[in-house]
Amino acid sequence: MTRDEPEADATAPDAEDEWQLYATAGYAAAENPWDDLVVVEEKDSKEEEWFDGDDFESNGQTVDWDSPPCPSPLGIAHMIRIGTCDHCLHRVGGRRTEVLGADGGASLRAEALARDKELSSFEVPELCPLCENLFEDVDNIVERITEQTGELDHGSLQIGVHVPKDLIQDEDRIRTRHGATGSRPLKASFSDAVQAGVTSRMDGIEFVKERPDLMILIDCLTLRVDVDIRPVFIYGRYRKLGRGIPQTRWPCRACRGRAEGCEACSGTGLQYPDSVQDLIGEPFRLALSADDTSFHGMGREDIDVRCLGRGRPFVLELKRPHTRRTDLDEIVAAVNANAAEKIEISDMRWSNRSEVSRVKETRSEKSYSIRFRIEDPPEESAIIESISSLSGVTLEQQTPKRVSHRRADKKRKRKVVSIDNILVEGNEVQFSVRCEAGTYVKELVHSDEGRTVPSVTSVLERACEVIWLDVEDIHAD
Ligand SMILES: [Zn+2]
Ligand SMILES: [Zn+2]
Repeated sequence: MTRDEPEADATAPDAEDEWQLYATAGYAAAENPWDDLVVVEEKDSKEEEWFDGDDFESNGQTVDWDSPPCPSPLGIAHMIRIGTCDHCLHRVGGRRTEVLGADGGASLRAEALARDKELSSFEVPELCPLCENLFEDVDNIVERITEQTGELDHGSLQIGVHVPKDLIQDEDRIRTRHGATGSRPLKASFSDAVQAGVTSRMDGIEFVKERPDLMILIDCLTLRVDVDIRPVFIYGRYRKLGRGIPQTRWPCRACRGRAEGCEACSGTGLQYPDSVQDLIGEPFRLALSADDTSFHGMGREDIDVRCLGRGRPFVLELKRPHTRRTDLDEIVAAVNANAAEKIEISDMRWSNRSEVSRVKETRSEKSYSIRFRIEDPPEESAIIESISSLSGVTLEQQTPKRVSHRRADKKRKRKVVSIDNILVEGNEVQFSVRCEAGTYVKELVHSDEGRTVPSVTSVLERACEVIWLDVEDIHAD
């Protein structure tokens, strides 16, 4: 029987989603962030009584917590008194400056000091309350990123920043109270700074908000940088020309794939030396210097079933590829030469993760050829008439015994669309059948001890033994 059903185990949770939690929105670093700034009218400070329990005190003076927010001179003076670094001063100051970033902040500070001599005698705290001096680490982080990605072929990058929650909350409170309206938050600003640093050090890269080649996660607490190389997907169709080849890699039963010193598999770790997955996947894996492959087929066929016609659609996933470009035609030729008489591939093109679900979820009709042996065969015309009577019927199929250990025992209805090309040769009979996705075709012939009704066995009233089965076409794509 063929197991032409979507695999029972769902696709693993998409790591991409997890990354989105850290991803920052907006990468408008090239623009002046204050271009569209509207200065709001200063609120009557008596309106809200604000005190957060912190008491920044220097030179015996208490900071003026009631000062109006930036960009007012008093607001900027306040930010300087509480120890705001140049980078954050520029980010929340709400003033147009000639230069951006820390240099812009330094010019705001210089202006403020010129206005208010007292500010320079003010001893500022060492740790910026808005970023805890995080911006000092930008160069260090950029260095780590270029080190870790230097050997990789990459076009697009996405940066994810993890900032401790309490710092985010503290920063947000100070910025919304004292910063200029529309100030860029810490996380986005930090990400901009890292991005600018990376752009100045690496050629030919592009920052994107989804589907990057490389995900870069920065933990601001530990300054750890993780580079996640996103997989590459390739779509194609395969024909399986030989029997005895499983679709996916099958670990050795004796050693469970551990391989070392196993006599049963001669140390290969494999139950069968070949699989469709490796015959196709290995040449691609080597070409892209990937770590491993996953094979996503539009259904599967049994190990002893060939798959002919236009072949079965599949998506090959290459994990952690160190390069993302190759000549597909060249590798197709290599696969087909290397696996001659076993498998053959065609229609290969670059694909993406969403095609994996499309391929796995497509439920299409399939055409098969099947040959079986019959005891004490009746007249040829009687055989042809009986088998033809199954064309168009709806089968009731109880989960076959041989798959019952991994599939729920249930009855399902599947339609036999058509039957033709019935051929009788002595006590062997062969025919073509087109049926609904998920039909157990071998059971249609031998009936699985009456679990499939009706069947060739029931209409001929004789035991039938399947000799072989081929998939002739998958009516999809
Ligand atoms: Zn700061
Ligand atoms: Zn083994």
